[in-house]
Amino acid sequence: MAQGILKDTMANAMLVKDLAEVAKDTALLHGVQIRVHESPNSSEVVTYAPITLFPSPVPKSAFYQALAVQVHYNTLVDKISQDADFLQKALASTITVDNFTARLFKIHQQVLEEGKAQSIVLGLNRSDYMLDQKNEGCPTLKQIEINTFAASFAGLTSHTPHVHRHILKVAGCVEESQRILDNNSAAGLAEAIAKAWELYGSKRAIVMFLVEENQINIFDQRCIENELWKRNISTKRKRFRDVSKTGSLDPDRKLFVDGQEVAVVYFRNGYMPQNYQKNANIFNDWQARLLMERSLAVKCPDIGTHLAGTKKVQQVLSQPGVLEKFFPEQPQVVEQIRSTFAGLYTLDMGPEGDKTIEMALRTPGLFVLKPQREGGGNNLYGAELQQVLQEVKGSEERMAYILMDKIHPTPVQNILLKRDAPLKISTCLCELGVFGTYVRKGREMVLNKCAGHLLRTKSSEHADGGVAAGVAVLDNPLLL
Ligand code: ADP
Ligand code: MG
Ligand code: MG
Repeated sequence: MAQGILKDTMANAMLVKDLAEVAKDTALLHGVQIRVHESPNSSEVVTYAPITLFPSPVPKSAFYQALAVQVHYNTLVDKISQDADFLQKALASTITVDNFTARLFKIHQQVLEEGKAQSIVLGLNRSDYMLDQKNEGCPTLKQIEINTFAASFAGLTSHTPHVHRHILKVAGCVEESQRILDNNSAAGLAEAIAKAWELYGSKRAIVMFLVEENQINIFDQRCIENELWKRNISTKRKRFRDVSKTGSLDPDRKLFVDGQEVAVVYFRNGYMPQNYQKNANIFNDWQARLLMERSLAVKCPDIGTHLAGTKKVQQVLSQPGVLEKFFPEQPQVVEQIRSTFAGLYTLDMGPEGDKTIEMALRTPGLFVLKPQREGGGNNLYGAELQQVLQEVKGSEERMAYILMDKIHPTPVQNILLKRDAPLKISTCLCELGVFGTYVRKGREMVLNKCAGHLLRTKSSEHADGGVAAGVAVLDNPLLL
């Protein structure tokens, strides 16, 4: 690209200041916005969503590889979610020490014992990758994780291309501006939700967005809501406490909340232990979750799919022969998926786990230690990793974690636009996400698609990531 122009631009403080103002205004013009922390439940004052000033270079081959493998990841997640035996074996050690996963697992068991009310399944996931620069000149696509619960930014990322196209034009890079890809993840997610709603088969029933107490990222969700309204599908935003207070099942296990039948529950909250409050209501949030899981409503995700997205399952999948079990007659699919795996290691009790500990303590800089948590900011690196491993190595506590090879993407230069942060050139690392959507009815896959991408970029000073965690910002790939 016109790297030269951009390099010169970045070095010109006056120009950067002007462009940053243009970028913020363009973001606001196109709905790339978030609420402010001071008033997370009001839209009286909003701000631009954190974003890079320029798009970041991404190699074309790795980008299309990530898009191509997505439908197989969808199938894999869906297969795992239906395999109670596999989930039980994979999570057996984890749930003895991790209370949160244990609680989810218990709900899974309760639902299976009673018998699932609904055979329609809706999956909206996002598989995240970094490009490892191990092979000089040929970075390889490595999966960081797959999010099967509340994978966010499909909405905002549908609008960020406008921002970077405009900025490149203003910066004098007209040709590059035309190379920013369209991305319509919000419509893609809405298409799958709409299909599930249609299969549920009641015109009166709504799509319920189960949302957070603090709704900073509401515009991201509104994009999907509005896509559903375009199709004349009613959506409502409810919190756990609304379901606790007014939720009920009729004799057919139809779910009613505030008197309205719910066709689809789309969880945007409920992936962290602190999302579940033990209030004094007759029903607490955990009971509300169970109520929804037992219901006839289509859950996105259902409890099996939630568990399929745990980091422990990711680690078990990397063991020899496991992918083959899920794709017995498709060695090429196994190969396509496996080629995106980084090294993943068990910390279960026994010689294999002992070996992992020894390796990690010897060279902590090469690894990431991950508990079964989501939302960014939970992983351990370097000295902290070493310290925690020393503490837990002799006890079963270690089984709450998995170990993973640390991926080293090629650093890129960019300017991160964050509210109240100084404008400066940062050395950055990118993480590419790919959205996947699927709908299954009984044994039939009715829809299985790749639904666009998300590029997030953070300063290399931070080991961990996440836009919601305040570290990463939105970006766009400029394919090389
Ligand atoms: P979460 O579910 O909290 O998002 P992730 O596994 O995605 O957990 O880790 C959070 C962040 O930590 C990622 O966005 C990435 O920046 C960093 N990270 C995670 N795993 C690795 C890895 N193997 N190598 C390098 N960075 C990683
Ligand atoms: Mg995650
Ligand atoms: Mg992540």
